[in-house]
Amino acid sequence: MTEKLYYTSAYIKEFDALVKKCEKTDKGYIVILDKTAFYPEGGGQPCDKGKLNDISVYDVQENGDDVIHYTTKELPEGTQVHGIIDWARRFDLMVQHSGEHIVSGFINARFGYNNVGFHMGADMITVDLDGDITKEQLKEIEAAVNDYIIENHHIEILYPTPDELKELKYRSKKELEGDVRIIRFPGGDTCACCGTHVDTTAEIGIVKLISVQKFHEGVRIEMICGKRAYEYCAAAVEENSVISNLLSAKVFETSSAVERLLNENQQLKIKLSESENNMLNMIAENYKGISDKIVLNQKNLPPDSVRKLAAALIEQNSGLVAVFSGDDENGYKYAVAQKDGDLKALVKDMNTQLNGRGGGKPFFAQGSVNTAWKNIEDFLKDK
Ligand SMILES: [Zn+2]
Repeated sequence: MTEKLYYTSAYIKEFDALVKKCEKTDKGYIVILDKTAFYPEGGGQPCDKGKLNDISVYDVQENGDDVIHYTTKELPEGTQVHGIIDWARRFDLMVQHSGEHIVSGFINARFGYNNVGFHMGADMITVDLDGDITKEQLKEIEAAVNDYIIENHHIEILYPTPDELKELKYRSKKELEGDVRIIRFPGGDTCACCGTHVDTTAEIGIVKLISVQKFHEGVRIEMICGKRAYEYCAAAVEENSVISNLLSAKVFETSSAVERLLNENQQLKIKLSESENNMLNMIAENYKGISDKIVLNQKNLPPDSVRKLAAALIEQNSGLVAVFSGDDENGYKYAVAQKDGDLKALVKDMNTQLNGRGGGKPFFAQGSVNTAWKNIEDFLKDK
């Protein structure tokens, strides 16, 4: 049985221990010590990493009463080792875990929903709830949780007797028996948990609830705490500051400035489309009444305008209409059409001879050819 120093204090960063067992496996060496401050993965909290002497510990798991350290090299049985845990990683996980308890506790107290899934990712913490919460309600919870952590409450860790446990109101994922470890944030949350937590809520710093989305029967919340939350907010402020400079808008007026810009953009698109339609109609007007075929090479027309121009031309003419736009280097977009015509053979032939692709209806086809203008003219000469 390994003595679990992380339950003596979650703040033990270094310790000395005796190697009781060391075995080579497919996954590296497994090392069991008489005592350890390395927290094994469990209760939603990822494991600690760090070093035993100068050998890396890359995974830690619980096996019955033992804690198993996975190391990259052998540590001989019977030797003394000095363990150092990666404190930045552990403290961050403690901060996220404690913050998650308070958020889940506040939501449970206000809405009665349970935390039914909890994942501490490298970037985000996710909390799954068995009920629905709106964005507005999420903001209210965030404000209340941050007020609470600033009040700097001291955490309590309790091991109640079975009789005391019966009287205790606490959150838990399953019915618990035997020794139950209770984490209490006074006035905030009481929950059964085997993880490591901060001593005081002020160490959590900030709790930022990032998003809420429908998930199964309830919602999934994304959240971060402490330094992660600070860095996220700092990056968001920096991003907004860049937008503010680009738009010459005050930092709290960037969204209305962007909205204005989008409206202007929409109006410009409408105007552009109107003047393009006018231009296409004018071109079509110039070719009114021509019964012979019409072959046009128009500069810089988007594919949709090539189509529109061909459509306008066949309204007024009965012969073959072929509209192209492009250049010899990049090829040409085309629309070929003829009122009541059947152009299937012509289009197939054109695609083959002019290195093209495209098709459509018998009387109207669109596509592109990759060839020089001269070759297009030669191809259409006798059509
Ligand atoms: Zn927990």
